[in-house]
Amino acid sequence: MNQLKERYESFKIQNLELNMQRGQPADENFDLSNPMLNILDKSNTVTPSGIEIRNYPGGAAGLKEARELFCTVIGINPEETIIGNNASLRMLVNTLMWALIKGLNNSPKPWSSYNKPKAIVTVPGYDRHFTLLDALGFEMLTVNMTENGPDMDKIEEIVKTDGSVKCLIFVPTYSNPTGDTISDDNVRRLAKMKTAASDFTIFADDAYAVHLLSEEKIKPLNLLTACREAGNVNRVYLFGSTSKITFSGAGIGFMGSSESNIEYITKLMGIQSIGPNKIEQYRHVLFINNYKGGIEGLMKDHANILRPKFEAVQEILEKNLGGTGLAEWTKPKGGYFISLNTEYPVASKVVELAKEVGLALTPAGATFPHKLDPNNSNIRISPTRPPKKEVELAMEILSVCIKLASEEYQNR
Ligand code: PLP
Repeated sequence: MNQLKERYESFKIQNLELNMQRGQPADENFDLSNPMLNILDKSNTVTPSGIEIRNYPGGAAGLKEARELFCTVIGINPEETIIGNNASLRMLVNTLMWALIKGLNNSPKPWSSYNKPKAIVTVPGYDRHFTLLDALGFEMLTVNMTENGPDMDKIEEIVKTDGSVKCLIFVPTYSNPTGDTISDDNVRRLAKMKTAASDFTIFADDAYAVHLLSEEKIKPLNLLTACREAGNVNRVYLFGSTSKITFSGAGIGFMGSSESNIEYITKLMGIQSIGPNKIEQYRHVLFINNYKGGIEGLMKDHANILRPKFEAVQEILEKNLGGTGLAEWTKPKGGYFISLNTEYPVASKVVELAKEVGLALTPAGATFPHKLDPNNSNIRISPTRPPKKEVELAMEILSVCIKLASEEYQNR
């Protein structure tokens, strides 16, 4: 047995149970927000703006104080923001459903009136974007995510002539899974490009807008500002949430757009519900506004917990795979993921080998629509949830699996 195989077998006999599959915060991250659990009592059920949070009134767009706070995460004004319940994903799906049924603010007709409306997605990308677009009946057109954001040449070409291309969904900051952030130039190009569909819409899922890993902040030009300057103010919707700021299971989702779009969509949301959960919103407002340094302070404390795990991934991959040419991987400055590409089409084999020794990785293909990675090479690494020691061991295993799978491929 060669050394590599021996190493692999040595993992096998340890009966490991390691999970690097999903991008979840660690309990230590959640612990930062524990004061939120009992920050409310019967003495503070009325907000400074006079809303009794236990009752119905308050509006479909959320508490004023919450709009003032969370608009800053996506870099817009309170009047341009709607605050919802947990899960920004639900707000995204909801907006898409209205677009299909009725059309958006400026739509000449509902999107469902197209035989198969088309959506542009970036790859590698977020699996849930693909699943939701597929479930809603969109055909997905893929463009590559580059280190400067979506491949703009390709997008401009696609949207120019085909009026059934209705939207783009992508992650502008510290993208899932590559960690890449859109450049200011590309923001401007998205804002001003000519589109065959007069209601072409950009859904910018800014889930990691403030999720830096070090002091070095990256803030791309704001898409709504750029669209306004380009004369296309209604072109973009931004989404964000506190799922990875406070609690993933009980966070606050929010969305932003032009005031006119917000008015349009708030009316529709007001039909669906009298209003969102104001107790959860106010709890967040009190907690975050009282946190040392506010959201920024909280995100720095998160970064201090997460950074060592990201550093461990880089160190171990570099030690084992650096210079071998067998894989390359991203070095994000924020977000929740690292994206690795194998040189040979062996991603599914690597994930299978890892599973056999007790390491669960995100399934190969998950970062592409219909789970089909045309090169069978992309693997998403999610180092946030497990303790650092487990991240280290997982990366040792991953390195061995990549070497084994590549060797097997070369000798086939
Ligand atoms: N958007 C992206 C890009 C994500 O990576 C995630 C979670 O992994 C979400 C949205 C989910 O956000 P929420 O919990 O607000 O629905």
